[in-house]
Amino acid sequence: MAAAARAMTENEQRLTELDSAIGDADHGGNMRRGFQAVTSALDTAQDEGQLTGPGSVLTLAGRTLISKVGGASGPLYGTLLRRVGKTLGDEAEVDPAVLSEGLRAGVEGVVKLGGAAVGDKTMVDALQPAVDALESGFAAASQAALHGAEGTVPLRARKGRASYLGERSVGHQDPGATSAALLLGALAEVAGD
Ligand code: ADP
Ligand code: MG
Ligand code: MG
Repeated sequence: MAAAARAMTENEQRLTELDSAIGDADHGGNMRRGFQAVTSALDTAQDEGQLTGPGSVLTLAGRTLISKVGGASGPLYGTLLRRVGKTLGDEAEVDPAVLSEGLRAGVEGVVKLGGAAVGDKTMVDALQPAVDALESGFAAASQAALHGAEGTVPLRARKGRASYLGERSVGHQDPGATSAALLLGALAEVAGD
């Protein structure tokens, strides 16, 4: 979560630029503020002895994104993280295989909540290839997410705010797919293989 928060802060401007082309120019701020809220919620919970393990960290992070981020991305990423947390459960350590299972369940949750399929020019275009590549490890998943995000450029948006633009959404990289690739990059950075 610390690596994710760092990535969101470092890339705030880029995400906002992408969202100003095909959205409402708030994705960078949404993600930076959301993960800052996650960081402080985790600090507080830690001080109060409420974090029982990695599962509880992810669950609280997800809940915080849902409650603090206005905009489509908050509930979607929040759902993803909560599902990962639920899958990790009360174990004291993260088993990479269980984490992968949690990420698959998390992305299923995003698809169910948002109704987007691969090709609709959303975060799903980065998340789905990433979970499909997980059996090859977290670095492979991160690469697949980057590739998926870049692949949103020629697509026409069919979900979210960008879909209001119709044809005019073509030629721009989707902001949410870009933040998803950054989050997978943060995971690869800390999880190794
Ligand atoms: P908002 O569009 O409400 O301002 P953000 O700018 O924070 O929210 O997030 C926009 C991103 O959310 C989009 O680039 C897209 O990737 C993602 N998104 C929007 N709607 C959906 C959806 N229905 N399913 C999956 N992802 C979505
Ligand atoms: Mg936006
Ligand atoms: Mg918005």
